[in-house]
Amino acid sequence: MDYIQAGGMGALLNNGRPSLLVIHSMENPLQVGRARGIAKYFAGINTASAHYCVGPDEVIQCVPTNRKAWHAGPNANAFTLGYEQTGYAAYSRSDWLTATGRAQLANLASVCRADAARYGIPIRWATDEQIRAARYGTPAGFCTHADISRVLGGTNHWDPGNNYPRDLLMQAMNGQQIGDDMPSVTDIWDWKIGQNGIYGKDNMPAWQVLGYTHADGLWTQGLVKALPGTILGTSIKDADGINGTVGDRLAWIDKRARDTEAKVDQVAAAVTALGQTIEAMNTGQIAEQVKAQITDALKGLSITLTTKENA
Ligand SMILES: [Zn+2]
Repeated sequence: MDYIQAGGMGALLNNGRPSLLVIHSMENPLQVGRARGIAKYFAGINTASAHYCVGPDEVIQCVPTNRKAWHAGPNANAFTLGYEQTGYAAYSRSDWLTATGRAQLANLASVCRADAARYGIPIRWATDEQIRAARYGTPAGFCTHADISRVLGGTNHWDPGNNYPRDLLMQAMNGQQIGDDMPSVTDIWDWKIGQNGIYGKDNMPAWQVLGYTHADGLWTQGLVKALPGTILGTSIKDADGINGTVGDRLAWIDKRARDTEAKVDQVAAAVTALGQTIEAMNTGQIAEQVKAQITDALKGLSITLTTKENA
C-alpha cells in the first residue's frame, strides 16, 4: 500500500487506539485514479484529511492509524479512523455497485477488516449507543460520517449517502462473497439495448446484456457478468485458449448452441434407427450402439464460458 502523508495530521488518538471506524465518500466520481488524486490533495492542505483514500484500483494511506486525521469533526476525530472512498453521497445503489464500484468495495473491506483485527474492533455497524461509548475507548465497530453527524454532531456531512450498500460492505468485511445483484427483466428492458449490441447506459450493474447480430440477421442476446470497460470489440482470451473479441465469442457460443440442437436431432434419429434393428441384437450390443452414436454425435460440444480480460 502506498503512503502519501496528509498535511492534516494531529496528535495520538485517545489511548493511541481507534475505537470506531468511519466510512466516507469523497464527493468525486467513482473511478480509477481518483483515490490518488484526493491523497495528493490531502498532502497539500492541513484542513481535511483521512487515514485512507480508497479507490477501485488502489488504497493509499495518508495518516498513521494511531494519529488523528481531520475527517469526522471535532467530536469524533480523537477516537476514529477515516476511510474516504471515491463516489458521491447522492449515488443510487446501482451507482455504487458497478463492476468498478464492487472492486472499490472489496478494497475498502480488506483494509477495514485488517484495521478492525489489529485494534480488536468488532465487524458490525455500531448502534448509536455504541458510537457514544466509543468516545471513551470501548471498541464499537463501523459507522458512516452521516452517523457521526446525527449521533455526536460537530459536523453536518451525510456521506456516503442513504443508498450506500452498507449490507454488502459488511458481507465483504465478513469474508463473504459480495452478492451479484442480478438485474430484473424490467431493469434490462429499461436499458433499451441497441440492435448492434451496445450495452446501454453508464453505471450499469455488474451484470450486462451482450447482444450480437449474426450474418443471417438473427439476434443473440445474453446476460453476462461485466468485465470492467468491456465492449463487443474488446479482445478476450478464454480459459480454453480461444482468442478473439467478445463479439466473436458470443457468435461462437451461439453457433455451439445451434450445433447442439442439430446434434440432438441426429441422436434422436440414430436411436430411432436402432429401434428398427433392435430385435436382432442382444442388450449389450444395443447399449454399445447407443453409446457410440451419442458419443459421436456430441463430440467436441463442451462449452467453456469462463473469460478473462486480455488487458
Ligand atoms: Zn465524510
